[in-house]
Amino acid sequence: MTFLNPNIQKEVFKKKPIKAPILFEQLSKGDITALSQAITLVESKLATDQQIAQELIALALSKSGKALRIGISGVPGVGKSTFIEAFGKFLTQHHNKKVAVLAIDPSSQKTGGSILGDKTRMEQLSQNPHAFIRPSPSAGNLGGVAEKTRQSMVLCEAAGFDIIIIETVGVGQSETVVKSMVDAFLLLLLPGAGDELQGIKRGIMEMADVIAINKADGDFEKKAKIAASEVRRALHLFPELYSGWTVPVVPCSALHQKGVDEVWQKLQAFETHLHSQGLFEHNRRLQMQEWFQQLLRTELLEFLLKEPELSKKMAALETDISNNLIDPSAAVQQIIKAIKAGTASN
Ligand code: GDP
Repeated sequence: MTFLNPNIQKEVFKKKPIKAPILFEQLSKGDITALSQAITLVESKLATDQQIAQELIALALSKSGKALRIGISGVPGVGKSTFIEAFGKFLTQHHNKKVAVLAIDPSSQKTGGSILGDKTRMEQLSQNPHAFIRPSPSAGNLGGVAEKTRQSMVLCEAAGFDIIIIETVGVGQSETVVKSMVDAFLLLLLPGAGDELQGIKRGIMEMADVIAINKADGDFEKKAKIAASEVRRALHLFPELYSGWTVPVVPCSALHQKGVDEVWQKLQAFETHLHSQGLFEHNRRLQMQEWFQQLLRTELLEFLLKEPELSKKMAALETDISNNLIDPSAAVQQIIKAIKAGTASN
């Protein structure tokens, strides 16, 4: 027996629709729950959520841009989460900063599990009222995850966070993506530079603006100092990324919170250097353009793939390519031709 008319029941239990301006207002007052909700909307695949997310981003962009964006990378086990924990504590306690930590984890898309997210990480920082930690979105390709991280970053800035840390695993592609959305890139290395340098790809070393040799404590302290000199020497072989900026190499111990202040000084010095050369704003402008171009590419392709005729043609061409009946370049030209013909007939 039902006590309520099913229609009334539906009304009673219907979720209240979210309104972007209201959520934005709460978020811009620093409301963490609203910020989490906004990021969940950004990460959602539902078209209705995406629409609200777009409205939110448009509102948030006007309030964003004031934070310092720092990328942190290093191989699993180097001490990223321990470092971010120590660094976050240092910044919130001694510099009155609000710190947000976002992650880009390429492993989570392939396996469903992740290198960064499997264990409980940064327990203390996650309870710090001046910090906000969000794990990597677990769906989509690297480009899609990067897009969501960019948007989440804008939301965090609108919520008043003044240091945004984007963490990633130092094993490949994701560093390039992180580099394209941060102001400074910090690479963590282990003592025993020789072995370590082999594990770290040369390209990642070249991206670093500041390098920290972590675990410079106990038996490793001496080794870390030697490693620092070796890394400095190795860096001389790379072309200078910014003229007048020699990449500093700082031994530190995240576990014992030693040298973390020096890493911060170096990052600040780098920020000052960029400003003095007019490069800070320049880089940001380039990054916005790159954001636009990447998004345009992805969205255009998605839009085109939704066109039934065109996706049928693409599938047919793919089969032809794998059977060596046509080369990829000629196939692309056929697609372009079909799009042009379609546009003309509209
Ligand atoms: P991640 O995989 O890069 O995030 O590395 P974690 O932060 O999880 O650290 C991996 C291991 O190294 C843990 O057992 C840490 O306690 C340890 N560790 C991290 N930082 C230091 C450090 O500065 N000194 C020492 N001795 N151990 C550290």
